[in-house]
Amino acid sequence: MIKAIKGTNDILPEEMLNWNFLTETVKEQMKFFNYKEIRTPIFEHTALFSRGIGEGTDIVSKEMYSFTDRSENNVTLKPEMTASVVRAFIEHSLGKKANLNKLFYISPMFRQERPQAGRLRQFHQFGVEAIGNHNPSLDAEVIQVAYEILTNIGLKEIEVKINSLGLPEERESFTYKLKEFLIDKKDGLSEDSKNRLENNVLRIIDSKDRGDQQLIKNAPSILDFLGSESLEHFEKVKDLLTIAKIPFSVEPKLVRGLDYYTHTTFEITSSKVGSQSALCGGGRYNLLIEQLGGASTPAVGFAAGIERILLACKAEEAFTPNEDELDIYIVCLDKELENKVFEFASFFRKNNFRIEFDHSSKSVKAQMREANRLNAKYVLFVGGEEYEKGQAQFKNMTTSEQEFVDLDKLDDIVSLISKKN
Ligand code: AMP
Repeated sequence: MIKAIKGTNDILPEEMLNWNFLTETVKEQMKFFNYKEIRTPIFEHTALFSRGIGEGTDIVSKEMYSFTDRSENNVTLKPEMTASVVRAFIEHSLGKKANLNKLFYISPMFRQERPQAGRLRQFHQFGVEAIGNHNPSLDAEVIQVAYEILTNIGLKEIEVKINSLGLPEERESFTYKLKEFLIDKKDGLSEDSKNRLENNVLRIIDSKDRGDQQLIKNAPSILDFLGSESLEHFEKVKDLLTIAKIPFSVEPKLVRGLDYYTHTTFEITSSKVGSQSALCGGGRYNLLIEQLGGASTPAVGFAAGIERILLACKAEEAFTPNEDELDIYIVCLDKELENKVFEFASFFRKNNFRIEFDHSSKSVKAQMREANRLNAKYVLFVGGEEYEKGQAQFKNMTTSEQEFVDLDKLDDIVSLISKKN
């Protein structure tokens, strides 16, 4: 038997209830915050990601699903959305159509990581990219959207951590000092961090390796390298988060993996999902658009992992989605009347009712079992003596009340149910 690829998940109908609850909350909040949905292709030219995310990052150096297609194009299944959204922003000149483009997405992503709980090879993210404005109010707003979504689905055990990476030159002097600090401790670093010393020093700071963490305990802090403009920006973000009543902590070691961040970075973590605790991460990326060939444009965004958020929801029992239910299950009492049942079902469906009926000539008892299993609110019995009289029994499954309805007046059923709903 051929099984699903390691690190990919089937999302079965019962799990979809949770998914839909989350994605509907996402869409609702995006409306409140006035973000518009964007969809981009599943695959892009590999160069977009290597240029946009950075050669020195884990994503580009070891996790991308890249391949050469039959026309010798180098393509990659998207490992994240920011580069794709920015490409679309440039390609369609969205910056000329509006000063500020507030976009959101919900999409699958692909990274060849070592699968474990909360870490998949095909996973799903929702996120936002607000492109065109440098104001700290947008940094705060982006953090607020993420926070509102997570708290609206019922998560309580979450923490917002923020940091600032300042301007490129500030980050550069910090990186220089950091390298100086680490160079004579090189032998004590993990293999990954030894490599990063050459190509992505900043990443050593958020290494999960215990030994590395010990070594960087007394490393210089990026916050000591920020100039007045960066500090002012950061202070404003903090003030606005306080106004929005969002509890947060400043975490100078939060540098995040991607090359394109400037100023604010943030992460929202859950204490309930084990080692893969980051539910959401993002920040400001004022340099990326120019780096990808567009006009210099400030931007800020985040990405949140749907599977991980749902794991946190499960651990916290954050919500119970409404079970799917049917309006009417039509029981067929007489095989000859199958076409009639089909006709009634069509009528009710056209009137926006959720309808099911038996497709395999089951016994009445079995049909009733099915009606119960599907949480039918009403059952319509078609057949028998009543049918001869042009009527059918109509049963309210909650109260067990039964009444006769005229089959030439199905509109009465429609108004009866509509009234009770
Ligand atoms: P990133 O794009 O790496 O900043 O990730 C943003 C969010 O996506 C993380 O906080 C996770 O919730 C989620 N995420 C990232 N990588 C994976 C993965 N391999 N499997 C599941 N979720 C992931």
